[in-house]
Amino acid sequence: MKIFSAANPPQAHIVCELLRANGIACEVRGEGIFGLQGEVPFGEASEPHVWLFDIEQAGVAKQLVAQFEQPHSEPSWQCIECGEVNEGQFAMCWQCGSAAEA
Ligand SMILES: [Zn+2]
Repeated sequence: MKIFSAANPPQAHIVCELLRANGIACEVRGEGIFGLQGEVPFGEASEPHVWLFDIEQAGVAKQLVAQFEQPHSEPSWQCIECGEVNEGQFAMCWQCGSAAEA
């Protein structure tokens, strides 16, 4: 079953790798025709997407996809170098480039 529709092929691969890292069998489909946009009608069939092999893993897979789609739920953090407050999905301070504290 299709577990995730991506906006572009790299995004599909990120989600696919995330799921695989959690023991879920999946693959990226649909990216082969991504470059033909304009020649084929754009829609569900031509979007790159992540295909889930084992439907019994759909519940876990959907949770992981939901986490991926809501990066803003991560807590914001304050830079120790310049004091700037950064959103949680940024690993580096957008102001001065310092890395976030682990
Ligand atoms: Zn900073």
